Amino acid sequence: MTVYVVRVAGTIQTNIRASDPCLDCFNKMKELGIKKIVYSCEGSYVKCLLNNYIPTRICLGRAFISSGMKPITRANIDSDALLIKNAYKND
Ligand SMILES: [Zn+2]
Repeated sequence: MTVYVVRVAGTIQTNIRASDPCLDCFNKMKELGIKKIVYSCEGSYVKCLLNNYIPTRICLGRAFISSGMKPITRANIDSDALLIKNAYKND
């Protein structure tokens, strides 16, 4: 089975943004037996085997919980590389 993920900014369909799966989604897809993923990457698409994929993003939901339910934005977490380690240290 292949999972397709696309993120479109606003209402303009040509405004394709990065949608590479976070670690939580990666782990769930492994659990479900997903073999391949196709995701958008700033105007193009990447296709790969899930076994070859390395998640590098933390989702906003995980960041919110890990920060003690304090407001957080994508800009906050993308600029803090340590947060991804801290967010998953108890998993
Ligand atoms: Zn996710």
